[in-house]
Amino acid sequence: MHSTAPLDSELSCGRLHLPVAARCNIQCKYCDRNYDCANQSRPGVASELLTPTQALAYLDAVLAAKDDITAVGVAGPGDALADPEKTLETLRLVAQTHPQYTRFISTNGLALAEHAQALTEAGVSRVYVAVNAVDPAIAARVYYFVRAGKRNLFGQEGAALLIESQRQGIAACKALGLEVIAVCTVIPDINDAHVADIAAWLAALGVDGLELTAFHPAQASPLGAHPPATKAMMLAAREAAAPHLPLMECCTHCRADAIGLLGEEKATTVLNKIKAMAA
Ligand code: SF4
Repeated sequence: MHSTAPLDSELSCGRLHLPVAARCNIQCKYCDRNYDCANQSRPGVASELLTPTQALAYLDAVLAAKDDITAVGVAGPGDALADPEKTLETLRLVAQTHPQYTRFISTNGLALAEHAQALTEAGVSRVYVAVNAVDPAIAARVYYFVRAGKRNLFGQEGAALLIESQRQGIAACKALGLEVIAVCTVIPDINDAHVADIAAWLAALGVDGLELTAFHPAQASPLGAHPPATKAMMLAAREAAAPHLPLMECCTHCRADAIGLLGEEKATTVLNKIKAMAA
């Protein structure tokens, strides 16, 4: 059985998310787009959108105030690869100006395979992929639609496309030597009994670790009336996944501090100041 303790890099790391990717290429039923991508399970941080240049100014402001940031990446507020140009440009700028920080993205995986090479060229070394189901019948209860070119695919058709895209994307990243961490939101009566299957599927692809996050309903989403995941459910999910691959603690520290608060100042205030300076 694998340890459920967080890796050393997660214990000491502060992740900073640069909000440059507005669009999304799927629709999760638990998503409230007034907030950052729910696949990251960041609590209560209103979405802000920056240009790549503004994101660099924001990064400098955060680094001037905090000394525990070790990883910088793009995780939304939509999907990092639904708007790949802005994401890649931002990551290239970070690599040029702050090469000492680990670069990462967070994605639903739909467009991961086609951009894996470009991500490595932009200096990305870690990819977080949200995988909430590996069975199309279950995934169809999590995702409303999945974008395929100019069409939206609904139900199991869209779910199957997403799962296959995630498989190809993860395989492409591992072939390129990237670290891949899967993120699974545990949703009662939808995927809570499916976690062992997800973990086994991820392990077979060589995924490096899994973060399990508890579902909390966002009122404005289609699953707004769905019950939240309980502590007992999360414990059972961790026990089901642990035999397959290392489990990692969610980085609540950096989510709350690095982007939620900057000293006593709210991140949104800092972001607005940076926007005003650039205007
Ligand atoms: Fe929302 Fe899902 Fe898109 Fe994230 S991947 S922005 S949760 S629809």
